[in-house]
Order: sequence, then C-alpha cells, then structure tokens
Amino acid sequence: MNNEFTKSKIMEFPSAILAGHGVINQVADICNKYNLPEDAIIITGENSYRFAGNIVERILKDNKYRVNVIFTKEASTDNLDAIISGIKTINRKKFFLVGVGGGSKIDLTKLVAFKLHAQYISIPTIASHDGISSPRASLKNENIPVSIEASIPLAVIADTEIILRAPFRFLASGCADVISNITAVMDWKLASRLRNEPYSSSAATLAQYTAETILDNAKNIKPELEESVWVSIKPMLISGISMSIAGSSRPTSGAEHMFSHALDRLGVSKALHGEQCGIGTIMMMYLHGGDWERIKEALKTIGTPTTAKGLGISDNDLIKALTIAHEIRHDRYTILGDKGISKESAYNVAKATGVI
Ligand SMILES: [Zn+2]
Repeated sequence: MNNEFTKSKIMEFPSAILAGHGVINQVADICNKYNLPEDAIIITGENSYRFAGNIVERILKDNKYRVNVIFTKEASTDNLDAIISGIKTINRKKFFLVGVGGGSKIDLTKLVAFKLHAQYISIPTIASHDGISSPRASLKNENIPVSIEASIPLAVIADTEIILRAPFRFLASGCADVISNITAVMDWKLASRLRNEPYSSSAATLAQYTAETILDNAKNIKPELEESVWVSIKPMLISGISMSIAGSSRPTSGAEHMFSHALDRLGVSKALHGEQCGIGTIMMMYLHGGDWERIKEALKTIGTPTTAKGLGISDNDLIKALTIAHEIRHDRYTILGDKGISKESAYNVAKATGVI
C-alpha cells in the first residue's frame, strides 16, 4: 500500500546544491543570494582548513563578511558543547554557519545549526557517506555512534577538485553506502507489506535509482580521476534527499546498516561506515534472495572490502554482529525479523557469499 499521500508532513530540502570543479569559489555568491547575515562562523578541522577552510575564509572576508573560525575534531557530545560555548563567546546576534570538512565536521555543524536555529552551508572535503545533504547527524555517545535529528543545509557546495584530494578509500566507502540503499528499500517494502509501515514510493524510487547509478558506473569510479567524484557525489547527495522525502533514514538504511551499527557496538571494526554497510548489503541481498553477486562484483570493482578479513575483523565477530543486528533498532522491521538470524544461519550466509 502506498501511504505517501495519506499523511501530511514537512519535507525540507537544501535550497541550493552545487557540485563540480571549483564550485567552492561561489560560496560568497550563495551567501549573497540568500541574504545571509554578515557574520559567518566556520566550523572545521585543522586539515580541512588547510585545503578548503582557508579558501572559504578568504573569499568571505573579501566579500565583506566578518568571519570566525572554530576548530574541532570528532563528532562527540563534548566537542558539540565546546563549539556552542565558543559561539556564545563570539557573541554575535545574527550569524550563519559554514561546515568545512569530512563527515564529523559536517555532522557537528548540522547539530549546532539545529540547536541554535542558525542556517548553514555544508562544504564537504570528503564524500564517505550519504549524510552530506541529509537532516540527520551521527554523534558519538560513549564511543557508539547514534543517529540524531539535525538541520538540513541551506546549501551544499561539493567541490569535486577538493574531494578528489582526499584518500580514494573515503569516496569508495561513500559509494558502498549508496549501494546499500538497494537492500534498505527491499526491507522498507517488506515492512510496508508485513507491518503496514508508511511507505513512500517516490523516496524509495529515488534511493533505489542512486544505488543503481553507482552499480552501473562501478568501473568508472577510480582513484585520481575527478570524473569519479562527479559520478558518485550526485547519487550521494540525492540519497540524502530521499531521506528528506521519507522524513526518516528508511530509504537508505535497513538491515545492512543495522549490521554495520552492530559492528560499531561490538567495537571490533576500524573500517569505514560505508565499507561495513557494503558487506552488510551483500549478505542481506542473499537473505532477500536477490542478486548478491552483482553487489559483490561492484564493490570489488570500486575497491571496498567484501570479506571479514578485508574489514579487519574475525569471522566470529562478523557472525556475532549478524546475530545481534536486529536488536539495534526495534522500530525498524527488516529481513532479519523480530528474532534475528540464528548463529548457524549467520554462518551459512557469510560462507555462501564468501564473506568468511
Ligand atoms: Zn549509511
């Protein structure tokens, strides 16, 4: 059943998305276009500042904006509080935020914007997951990342020249995260059929389309090739938009994400979010009875891990994560059902797909 017209809800989207070579130079044009206040606060990390934050600072200053820069590190509750008190010390009545950096800096900017009711521009320097344009942020609480509500950016400026300078592993991981939409949507459909969960075919179609785009273009996603960033950044941004349409992360996060969160909870993996989700997608696709080999091939071609060994974890830890994955979110029905997968079946699926 399609419930998307039976409820009213607010869908919030970024007003502007700029993706391409050198688009960082348009940051002041965007601020002028949307009449942003004259005080800008840049939230960034030391590395990101060196190759992107300082450009933003200079352009804004050249265009008569007053600029303060706040340096931060990982997305933790402590760092979030520190940024908010830093902004209070700056003591400006009206200001806007610019998040420049990888996932954690953008997540922190989203959360500060949400708490202080400020507008913000997102300038990613890496593209390692599909959260760049989404209204959700991941914050570490006692070392476990939790997804929480945050603000949508006024604008996203994704400069392919800057993102290309980040290690390729991040981009590949972002691609795997988008590929995972394919099983997330299957889980959503299942929940809609079995639990009458509200389902939006527009959000699902969009999320599925982004995954198909990456699968079809897998062989064009390579290190040191700016076109690779171009090919993958758009699906990553649109994937985030599908969450805005759905009003939740449902179209982009199913059992494969629960598997990844289970690994985080066990604290056994140092791999990237998208890398973990990619392996989760292979196994969940197998459980759905779909073409898991196509997923595995595409991940191999892009260059993300397809085995427990590749993730740097033991076979036992992988099986443990699979068996506890259903406990991660009780409100999210997936192919793992209410009771999860038994140890024997977890072993079978991991073995059959060559993950162990
Ligand atoms: Zn994800």
